[in-house]
Amino acid sequence: MNNFAYVRPNDVDSALALIRSRPKARFLAGGTNLLDLWKMGVEQPQTVIDISRLGLTDIAARPDGTGLRIGALARNSDVAGHPLVVSQYPVLSRALLSGASPQLRNAATMGGNLMQRTRCPYFYDPAFPSCNKRNPGSGCGALNGYNRNHAILGHSDQCIATNPSDMNVALAALEAQIRVIGPDGERVIPMGEFHRLPEDHPELDTTLQPNELITAIDLPPMADTKHAVYLKVRDRSLYAFALVSVAACLAIENGVIGSARIALGGVAHKPWRVPEAEALMRGVTPDRSICERVADRLLQGAYAYRYNRFKLTLAHRSIVRALTVAAAAS
Ligand SMILES: Cc1cc2nc3c(=O)[nH]c(=O)nc-3n(C[C@H](O)[C@H](O)[C@H](O)COP(=O)(O)OP(=O)(O)OC[C@H]3O[C@@H](n4cnc5c(N)ncnc54)[C@H](O)[C@@H]3O)c2cc1C
Repeated sequence: MNNFAYVRPNDVDSALALIRSRPKARFLAGGTNLLDLWKMGVEQPQTVIDISRLGLTDIAARPDGTGLRIGALARNSDVAGHPLVVSQYPVLSRALLSGASPQLRNAATMGGNLMQRTRCPYFYDPAFPSCNKRNPGSGCGALNGYNRNHAILGHSDQCIATNPSDMNVALAALEAQIRVIGPDGERVIPMGEFHRLPEDHPELDTTLQPNELITAIDLPPMADTKHAVYLKVRDRSLYAFALVSVAACLAIENGVIGSARIALGGVAHKPWRVPEAEALMRGVTPDRSICERVADRLLQGAYAYRYNRFKLTLAHRSIVRALTVAAAAS
């Protein structure tokens, strides 16, 4: 058994002082990912800092119509059902509701969801000797192993894991800003820069520093809430991670697309966006051929492995479907 210390600070300053001063410390929010990883022996914290008493649960409109601020400790179920999220950011509500189970969503927090780790079985189970993410330099078991759920975009020969979150895909399409606080004060990380591609350091999932705390997520105002879709394709209709998912937010006026923001899940180490693909939709009347061209561009350079070739076709069809449904919504 590994001994560990459990502490429960009452304010953000105390939480930051603890994470700075204790070796191998981890924040504990809802615990739905950290405790699983701990039980598997992937995580072995020496100090667990329970942040549930910090507040940070508000979900509130920001002044002057500048969007919405969601506290990092707001529960996934509270966010998914909040009237402002349902009416202004339906893509986020749908993405959250497509994830996990009601019990898990009642416990899981927004900060914890942002930070949840890959479901690659070679990472999750230390019985597998090779995983550069868990044990840098040990190799990638998935590369020549069972790689059905793995990446087709942005991978490296060090790691082909995917980010498993549904919420993150919606936040990428919404161009959320992640507010964090650390020893040097507060900073804001654009969602597109929060998660990393694996490159030579797959052990790093995000650009958050180890001694920083996520405090909130800011969402900019949405120009058009009607034409927003979250499509998730998975092995079961419930309680399964995405094989491929698509968050699509279109702004359409008089039948012409003003802007398109499209993010893919289940295909890369981070939510996948390609601005050049989105630009193809600007100023056009949506039809099947433009959706096909956007899918081609989003998947340009995609590369599959032995067991995940089906994702190339699945991702293409999912993008076309999501865009078609989003454009047709009224
Ligand atoms: C059976 C099962 C099925 C699931 N299915 C899905 C699914 O279909 N789709 C999906 O998207 N997710 C799914 N999940 C994942 C679930 O959404 C995550 O486990 C959850 O969102 C994590 O949130 P948490 O608050 O419990 O995080 P915790 O487990 O408490 O923490 C996770 C990590 O985040 C860090 N952390 C937490 N809060 C902060 C903060 N404020 N600042 C800095 N670091 C922080 C912790 O230190 C830890 O490293 C599933 C989980 C389970 C167990």
